[in-house]
Amino acid sequence: MSHVQDLSELAQEARAALQGLTAEEAVEAFRVRYLGRKGLVTQRLKELGALPEEKRREAGRLLNVLKQELEEAIRKRQGDFRQGRAERPVSMDLTLPGILPARGRLHPLTQTIRRLEGIFISLGFEVVSGPEIETEYYNFEALNIPLDHPSREAFDTFYLDEKYLLRSQTSTVQIRVMESRKPPLAIVAPGRVFRPDATDATHSFMFHQVEGLLVGERITFADLKGTLELFCRRLFGPRLKFRFRPSFFPFTEPSAEVDISCFSCRQKGCRVCSGTGWLEILGAGMVDPNVFEAVGYDPEGVQGFAFGVGVERLAMLLYGVEDIRLFFENDLRFLRQF
Ligand SMILES: [Zn+2]
Repeated sequence: MSHVQDLSELAQEARAALQGLTAEEAVEAFRVRYLGRKGLVTQRLKELGALPEEKRREAGRLLNVLKQELEEAIRKRQGDFRQGRAERPVSMDLTLPGILPARGRLHPLTQTIRRLEGIFISLGFEVVSGPEIETEYYNFEALNIPLDHPSREAFDTFYLDEKYLLRSQTSTVQIRVMESRKPPLAIVAPGRVFRPDATDATHSFMFHQVEGLLVGERITFADLKGTLELFCRRLFGPRLKFRFRPSFFPFTEPSAEVDISCFSCRQKGCRVCSGTGWLEILGAGMVDPNVFEAVGYDPEGVQGFAFGVGVERLAMLLYGVEDIRLFFENDLRFLRQF
């Protein structure tokens, strides 16, 4: 066998072995077998000197070409394995869109309450709160609701026992604040109230109110009108008409229901306003002197006005929600829209 033939067989064998290198350790074994200090290629190179001149040149050239080829192949394989090892634990595709952390948001009723609070804070009102479990005194007596008033019967109020009940309005907070402070004062009290109503699209046994109270000297119905008109315009837009309808509440005298012109149809009549062109927004009135007496204020010396809005009602109008129950069902498909 000629030396050249021998070398080409060695090269063939080496190239075939290269194809079978599937593990990093095998690459190293391959390098030792061919290029190591006693490797097959290394040995042949050492033997070159013993060859006759004319064979030596050709064999040397072939061996060096083979050596370079194998070195390059080994470097490439080692590189592949190292890269694969580095990539494996991370395994990410940087071209994919990122994963955003789930971000919560405020409940639409909370958003509505904050909007109302923001408007009244800008008018100089202070936000206060009070207990949801109340006594008959704060829920009725101090608010000038006599013993024989229909709303005192059990079907209109959740009684917990003989003494305590779940408040049926946030006016209780007004009494508590007036008892502990001297006028002048301007407060709004947002919070939950409870009434044993049958649940339907517009009624819930639990809902939210924001009640307001302003007490001072020389406060008139004009102050009440100005405040409420400003509030409604900030909430529903500047071009509103107002209607104050005489009404009755035990704790205010005179009392009024306040309607605004329907912002949805501009009073042409639509589903939102049931064809009337008007929307009932809130109840209000001048604080009854009996209420001032109950909290120890001088009914001759101070006047005040009070008002109350249903938060769910406003939120339904603002967002076009047609069923109050949607607010309390915790259905994320609904809540994610706000
Ligand atoms: Zn309308």
